Amino acid sequence: MPSVTFKSVTKRYGEFVALRDLDIEIGDREFLVFVGPSGCGKTTTLRLLAGLDSVTAGDIYIGDRRVNELASRDRDIAMVFQSYALYPHMTVYDNMAFSLEIQGLGRGDIQQRVQRAAQQMGLEDLLHRKPKELSGGQRQRVAVCRAILRNPAVFLMDEPLSNLDAQLRVQARAEISRLHRELESTFVYVTHDQVEAMTMGTRIAILNQGVLQQIDTPQAIYSAPKNKFVAGFIGSPAMNFFDGVLVEMADQLWFKSDALSLPLPPTTSAQYQRYISQRVICGIRPEDIHDARYLPPSIVTAPLKGTITHTESMGHEVIVYLALGDGQSCAARVDRRSTLALGDRVELAVNTHVLHLFNSHTEEAIS
Ligand code: ATP
Repeated sequence: MPSVTFKSVTKRYGEFVALRDLDIEIGDREFLVFVGPSGCGKTTTLRLLAGLDSVTAGDIYIGDRRVNELASRDRDIAMVFQSYALYPHMTVYDNMAFSLEIQGLGRGDIQQRVQRAAQQMGLEDLLHRKPKELSGGQRQRVAVCRAILRNPAVFLMDEPLSNLDAQLRVQARAEISRLHRELESTFVYVTHDQVEAMTMGTRIAILNQGVLQQIDTPQAIYSAPKNKFVAGFIGSPAMNFFDGVLVEMADQLWFKSDALSLPLPPTTSAQYQRYISQRVICGIRPEDIHDARYLPPSIVTAPLKGTITHTESMGHEVIVYLALGDGQSCAARVDRRSTLALGDRVELAVNTHVLHLFNSHTEEAIS
């Protein structure tokens, strides 16, 4: 049985539709991440599931219980917010013990559970402190710890790492993933950060303007985005897009634009047949554009000419930005040994086996 089900859920604020007709089944023990740009409806979705807001239409189930009218406290969920919502006047211990006291547990039992959870999250030495005496990372761990103690059927997390610096965030990502494995519970997690989504989610649900765009594993979303929005949202630097036409010359299909002429792999010709002579959008990920000197010879490529306008060296890789002949620019992630420099006229190599083509009108992937 799915752990959480949204059936045609819509949320309106007056005339404004924050969430439109959402249908999702979240499996038991799944780690589902809602991701999307600011205002896309992520927090709204989580608030509806938490019972902090009510749906305008549709139904929400937790397990086999319809929870539309159920109060938040009766939904068997625990929530970790971006702000952590710790009680400032209480110690870490009391913040953690509070919900257990409300449940009517005995003192000894509470003490044992708090100690065990604190140990799990490395907080044993901080139990006597107040929230203001903790670092951001420690506060975040207390909030997670408090959620663990409620032992809910579903954990809800809304941007719990957004207040942490880059290094702590990496550590906290690993901690939350570990907890998910250990607790064997369902996690529903909201973030605008695609790295969090890609690294933590067993599946990712991408929202845009209140509409679910795609839900799938991180790998499937990266390699087969359903539309141009998803393709551009997942991946950093973002996928490059080129407007052009699909043409057939001597039994070979080509994508042609002012800057590019790319032969399409013979294996894809059936899928693209009906787009011959039509305008299409070609998407190329920066990591599929190479400095040919460092490319295994087995990869089939086509040339891409341009002038380098900017380079960013990260140590393990180099991102170069090119101005193409038609005034368009594009990003390429090239080998770290590459010595391409600002102002160079270059010919890079596009891997033609991993192109993404989209319908120019609907922006849906052509498959
Ligand atoms: P962010 O990443 O910026 O937090 P989000 O994806 O979580 O964004 P939501 O908070 O779900 O976005 O908001 C979705 C849309 O609904 C936004 O356009 C927001 O302005 C609107 N909205 C949210 N709450 C209300 C409200 N109480 N009244 C009116 N509009 C609202």
